[in-house]
This record gives sequence, structure tokens and C-alpha cells, in this order.
Amino acid sequence: MLKMEFEQEDWMLEGGCVYSDTDLFFPVGSSMKAMKQANEAKAICMECPVVTECLEYAIRTNQDSGIWGGTTEDERKSIRRQYRKTGLVING
Ligand code: SF4
Repeated sequence: MLKMEFEQEDWMLEGGCVYSDTDLFFPVGSSMKAMKQANEAKAICMECPVVTECLEYAIRTNQDSGIWGGTTEDERKSIRRQYRKTGLVING
């Protein structure tokens, strides 16, 4: 996930993606390959010790591309809508 512009936060160094293939976290398009990459990235996120911090950061800073906190861009849209209404980041 670390190829977008953002401010570095301490929790990022603990991310499960730090030593993973960055391309997995930024799949391009909706091809089978891209979907497979997204699923692989999400599987890494599900084991990540900072998944909550990551998703909160992505919502708070409006990260609209890539996999963050185990979610795709589309999945974050509804989380973001909820966040605007309630100030809470709720996944699911
Ligand atoms: S939740 Fe996923 S994208 Fe976020 S730091 Fe962890 S592995 Fe990386």
C-alpha cells in the first residue's frame, strides 16, 4: 500500500503489506488477475495487526484507490458515507 502520497504514521511500519508485493494492493481494472490480486491483498490484511488503524486512516484521509484495511475502493465508499454521518468507521 505504500506507494500513494500520504503522511507516514507509526502503525504503517507494522503493516502486513510492508514486505509484500505492492502491486497486490493496487490492482488495476476488474480483470480476473486484478480480482485475484485484490483477494490476495485482502487475505494479508485479515492477518495484519494494524488493520483497524489502516482502515480508519484510509477513511479519514480519503484514500480512494487500492486495498486498505482489508477493503477495496468500492467497499470503502459505503464506509465513508457512514463515517460522514456518524464519525465512526464501521466495516460490515
Ligand atoms: S491492513 Fe492491509 S493495507 Fe493496511 S497495513 Fe495491514 S496489510 Fe497493509
